[in-house]
This record gives sequence, structure tokens and C-alpha cells, in this order.
Amino acid sequence: MNAIDSKRIWLSSPHMGGTEHTFVKEAFDTNWVAPLGPNVDGFEKDIESYLENGMYAAALSSGTASLHLGLKLLGVSNGDEVLCQSMTFAASANPIVYLGATPVFIDSEKDTWNICPEQLEIAIKDRIAKGKKPKAIVAVHLYGMPYKVEAIHSIASAYNIPVLEDSAEAFGSSYHGIKCGTFGDIAILSFNGNKIITTSGGGALVSKNQKHRQKAIFLATQARDNAPHYEHSEIGYNYRMSNITAGIGRGQMQVLDSHVNKRRSNFEFYKKNLEDFSEINFLEEPSGYHANRWLSCIETSSYELREGIRLVLAEENIESRPLWKPMHQQAVFADCDAYLNGISDDLFNRGLCLPSGSNLEEDDLYRIVSVIKNVLR
Ligand SMILES: *Cc1c(COP(=O)(O)O)cnc(C)c1O
Repeated sequence: MNAIDSKRIWLSSPHMGGTEHTFVKEAFDTNWVAPLGPNVDGFEKDIESYLENGMYAAALSSGTASLHLGLKLLGVSNGDEVLCQSMTFAASANPIVYLGATPVFIDSEKDTWNICPEQLEIAIKDRIAKGKKPKAIVAVHLYGMPYKVEAIHSIASAYNIPVLEDSAEAFGSSYHGIKCGTFGDIAILSFNGNKIITTSGGGALVSKNQKHRQKAIFLATQARDNAPHYEHSEIGYNYRMSNITAGIGRGQMQVLDSHVNKRRSNFEFYKKNLEDFSEINFLEEPSGYHANRWLSCIETSSYELREGIRLVLAEENIESRPLWKPMHQQAVFADCDAYLNGISDDLFNRGLCLPSGSNLEEDDLYRIVSVIKNVLR
């Protein structure tokens, strides 16, 4: 097929359900065009009832802003150290630096590609021996696959270190029937344009502790004290979600579960069509795990094959992308300590994210698979 003639297939593009307009129009009709209003309240309630387990949600301007406030609420400040999963998007680590703290990176394990319990405990012991107990742990459910919740949280509680659960990619995933976003002392969600549901840009901070929600909203609205004039005793931020974008979010909540099902069926399609090739491997769900399969990823047998597939897909106007480059390999974090076992380096060399949108059509999936099969043959 000629790439010029063929439709572009994206990695993960926005997918509206249909009712978003109604909520947005209502905001215009009632002049709630502000960083507060009924859609913001309604979206927060929708998130809370979806997650169950008595969660409190604060809708904010982005997942990154939610991480920033979340780490601040966990007490992270100037000079502290925070343990952070190395294989992730930079937004998991950047807010540590915003607070004047230093990230210390932890490698992945093979079963979920997420933060390795063994390396985590080695790091905690080593940092304590060096005289500085880590202030928090940032654990990520990468590509929607839950991290080893029991192992990570039992280590964290044994050493009494709070966990910031980065659930930006895992809205709709669950672990032994319990939704991701409910495990950390504080968790965050993202509604960026490429995520499983989107508000065009946005995020949420969620916690079982209502005080965390209240304080997050206080900080997100310029830390305004209770007074008729503008009175401030703390530094604040402008991080609240707008009532317009929250309207998109309310519509998207109605299709979250169907988006999860579609993304999971994308993964099954790739697996069914490619699993007979010994050069391609898929990350299976460990028992009790339910991944939203935000992105369908493959592990190829070599860097050369991965690049071969990626470049031929690009020629065919199909977007794919290597897995996240670990933070310990990033120039900006070159001075940070890291506890490594080689796993994330290897995944970065051989792994590829395939188009995964909930709006992919069957023709698109067949087109992608036939291009990959041609490379393998
Ligand atoms: C998308 C993402 C974020 C940041 O969310 P934004 O809403 O884009 O700021 C944080 N962590 C991970 C793992 C992400 O994928």
C-alpha cells in the first residue's frame, strides 16, 4: 500500500463517547466557564463512585500537577530523597525536582515491568544506612499493568514510607478486583489526550483521606485563606480543572469501561495474530491482575528487529514507539543514584508500543499485523 494514500494510524488518539458535548454545552448555557462549577463537582463524584473503596477525588489541571501536589502533601520538601520507578514517563519524576528533592531510581521486574520489590528494599536499606531515609515512593502501573501491589506496599509499610501511586496509565485496571488508584496513600490519574479517557488535558488526585483532598484543593486554588479579602499564609498554585474540560470528563466516564474492553481486545488481536512468531513476546497478566491495556506492547528478540518493525510501520503511516526510556538513562537525571538489575534497559532496547486506541477499526488492526508479519517473514 502507498503510505500517501493510506490513513494515518495513531498510537493512542482521543475517542469521544458522544455525550461530552451535552455537558460542555450546559456549562456554556449556564455561564459556568470557570475553574469550578457543576461539571467539576460531578466529574469528581463520577471518579469517586467508579473507584469505590471510599475515595475522595480532586480534579486538577494535569496528572503532573496532581503528582506535584501529592508529593507535597506526603511531606516531600527541599533536600529529601524520593524513590521512583525508573521505567516510566518523565512526569513521574519531574515533580520530585520541583519540590527541591532528589529522585533515586529503582529498576523494574519481569512480571509486570514495574518497580522491583527486591531492588526497592535494597535501596531503602542502603539509603537508611547512608543516613537518609527516603521520604516517599513513586510506583507506576505502566501501560495499565498493575505493579506488584502487595509486595510493594508491604515493604513500604514495613519501613513506614508513604506511596504515591502513579495510576496515570491505569484508570480502569484492577488488582484482585480492587481498582488501581486506591492503593497509594495518595494516587493520581491523568486525562491527557493520549490516555484511556481524556479531558483534552487534566488529572486528578485521589485518596481515602479526605484531608488530602481538601488540602490539595486549597493549594490548587492559590492557597487562599478563609477571609473576605485575599489572605495567604502559604505558597499556592493554579492547578484546578476547568468546568469546561470537566464536562468532557463526565461524558468520557460513561465510556470508560467500554474503552477498557476495546483496548483489551486490541491486545488479544495482536496476541492471536503474532504469538506464533518466536521473535515476539507479550506481557501476560499475572493471576488476579486486570490490565486496561492502555497500550499494547510487544517484546521483540532484538533491538535490530524492534527497529526494523518500527521503521516499516512508519513507512506505512502507522505510529509505534519504543517503550519508555528509563529515567536512569536520561541526561537530565544523570547525577541521580539508581538501583539497577538490567531489566528496564533490556525492555527499552527490545520493546515496542503498537497502536492501541479504543477507536481502532478491525481494518486498521489487520493492516498493522500484516505489516509486522511481512517484516518477520
Ligand atoms: C501521562 C502520565 C503522567 C502525566 O500526566 P499529565 O496529565 O500528562 O500531566 C504521569 N505519569 C505517567 C506514568 C503518565 O503516563
